Amino acid sequence: MVIPQRYKKLQQVLSKRQPDLTVITEDVHKPHNLSAIIRTCDAVGVFAVNAVNSQSKMPTYSQVAQGSEKWVQLHTYPNITDAIANLQGSNFKVYAAHLSKEAIDYRKIDYTQPTAILLGAEKYGVTQLAADLSDGHIIIPMLGMVQSLNVSVAAAVVLFEAQRQRLAAGMYDRVSLDGDIFNKTLFEWAYPDIAAIYRQKGEAYPVLGEDGEILLTKDNHP
Ligand code: SAM
Repeated sequence: MVIPQRYKKLQQVLSKRQPDLTVITEDVHKPHNLSAIIRTCDAVGVFAVNAVNSQSKMPTYSQVAQGSEKWVQLHTYPNITDAIANLQGSNFKVYAAHLSKEAIDYRKIDYTQPTAILLGAEKYGVTQLAADLSDGHIIIPMLGMVQSLNVSVAAAVVLFEAQRQRLAAGMYDRVSLDGDIFNKTLFEWAYPDIAAIYRQKGEAYPVLGEDGEILLTKDNHP
């Protein structure tokens, strides 16, 4: 059984998750960069990351996440069009972190609205297609000699501005996750091995008691 203190911690973290704040990585393939982005997402309270993998070079999740994969879901897409359309269809504004002429200072965006931050590949940046499909471009002002930041650093700078705005708006003080998703994720976090057995059998997870104990009925034995 999960120990009660850990169960409380899992509940607390889930209750601060922000399902309407996310990132899209466009062919970001270096495992250490994806890993750093996912780790930052966990710290900021991002529930799921969207990774576009048009070149089939994406490392497996276990290679990249170094533990954070347990806490942040990864949705993968074969192309950027599907990823952006999916999020825009769910009322997200997609802002490309992109060093273009139209880009505005990243602090000018209202991140309390449903927001996806699009990040480009290490070498080539955001593609023209992705830039065109986005709702706007944002830039982190660069006042030194180099033109750009490492992609995971850029992700962190923008995400922590989003966190600052959401903290100020009290968005971490109320639960934003849908109740079913909250309970399902809580079970998976508390009992990953048992959850896998239920998934394999195509059965719903059992209900958890107040301290995280599994409440078995005759119908839901794994
Ligand atoms: N040569 C690439 C270019 O011209 O876009 C640089 C790519 S940069 C190493 C990788 C990604 O990090 C970019 O596509 C962008 O998403 C993000 N990034 C890096 N520095 C940024 C900045 N100052 N403002 C906004 N995004 C930035």
